[in-house]
Amino acid sequence: MSLEMKYFVLKPRGHGHHAVAARRALRAYADSIVGHDLELACSLGEWVDLEQSRVEPITPINFLTEELSKCCGDSEELCRTCNMMHSLRSDLLDGVVK
Ligand SMILES: [Zn+2]
Repeated sequence: MSLEMKYFVLKPRGHGHHAVAARRALRAYADSIVGHDLELACSLGEWVDLEQSRVEPITPINFLTEELSKCCGDSEELCRTCNMMHSLRSDLLDGVVK
């Protein structure tokens, strides 16, 4: 079955592939209407710039922090994977590992 919709919602906030695609799509949309609705085109551009600026760079420490929060979170007992990620993260924070 093909996908046919009246509307398609874009969410330009965040890291994922969909957020990146949404930012590209909104920029393309803004470029496309700039001659017809300059104000909306500018507002969309500013919005995408803002969301882009909110995206934190993916560093090893950020990545590990994110993964740790997904798996065992704040629980007292960490699983083996989280234990490894936790000690690697500590080493990275201490500058033992680069
Ligand atoms: Zn875990």
